[in-house]
Amino acid sequence: MSDDIAVPELLRINDHGGIVLGGSLVIDGHDDTQARVVTHIHSDHTVGLMNSLRCRRRIIGTPLTLEWLSLINGFTAPSLLNPLEYGQRFRLGELNVVLEKAIHIPGTAQVLVEHDDGTTIGYTSDFKKVGRGTEILQPEMLIIDAVYGHPSYVREFDEFIETILADLVSELLSRGPVHIYAYYGKVQEVMHVLRERGVIAPFLLNHKQYAMSKVAERHGMRLGEYFHSSSQEGVEIMRDGWYVYLTHSTSYAKLQRNTKVSHVTLSGWEFSHPYRRINDNSYLVAFSDHSDFKELVEYVERSRPKVLVVNNARSSQGRVFASYVASRLNIRTLLL
Ligand SMILES: [Zn+2]
Repeated sequence: MSDDIAVPELLRINDHGGIVLGGSLVIDGHDDTQARVVTHIHSDHTVGLMNSLRCRRRIIGTPLTLEWLSLINGFTAPSLLNPLEYGQRFRLGELNVVLEKAIHIPGTAQVLVEHDDGTTIGYTSDFKKVGRGTEILQPEMLIIDAVYGHPSYVREFDEFIETILADLVSELLSRGPVHIYAYYGKVQEVMHVLRERGVIAPFLLNHKQYAMSKVAERHGMRLGEYFHSSSQEGVEIMRDGWYVYLTHSTSYAKLQRNTKVSHVTLSGWEFSHPYRRINDNSYLVAFSDHSDFKELVEYVERSRPKVLVVNNARSSQGRVFASYVASRLNIRTLLL
């Protein structure tokens, strides 16, 4: 590929952030292509999934992502699903597609596409822990979602946040039950993080989170003891009052009235303190699944693509990030 590559001939980004590579492949969107890659289950990456299924597109993703997708959306389409392990190659027309590991929520993949003419294109999807679990792709053209694209979006405490969360949960458990609110996929990540840091209280989960955890365990995650909150054991544990209940963020409003319970909400949009108290028994912890601004820059700097494409549909302050990279790192950057 020469330096003056014609990006529009290679890719376009559609109205909902789908990355379209000719007629063969769209990544994290729906379009008129043979196949679709789903990098992970978050809703901004699964827009139009039912349309893709109705149009009988092949759906490529890691085995965990595809199983979670079927579970959450309630579909069975084994003939359309193409599970792909990290590092495995999938042939599609003139393309080879490879998924690489990203630390975000379980199952998340980056996508590396190699054209038969030698051109390489990579998409990072959502990630954190650059070079520490998240592989750094080195394609000629790199596509990135600058979720925290402004220089002020920096969390100095990111490195310690897992320990801070576990310590807070342990302390709150000495007073009574703890409820944790997080988005899909993050619940299982947090269960894993707490177990690794010595939290041994049983976890209680609603039906969907319980089923998702069973799938995650089948794919190698270690989550310790957890119970369905409506099972006999679950009800007894709840009566005893020493447990962590993990649920989807949207449940917060209806559950926060129980005053014996401590409530912990996880959010990435906190930059000044690792956590803060909202009221007597509620806390907000700055636990993010995304790189902050510094780590976004680090990824691009270490990847050194010939061209960087900032996917504006899924970026916050994409324009600021694109001009920062162009001027400070001297990399040709496009905002699409
Ligand atoms: Zn995500």
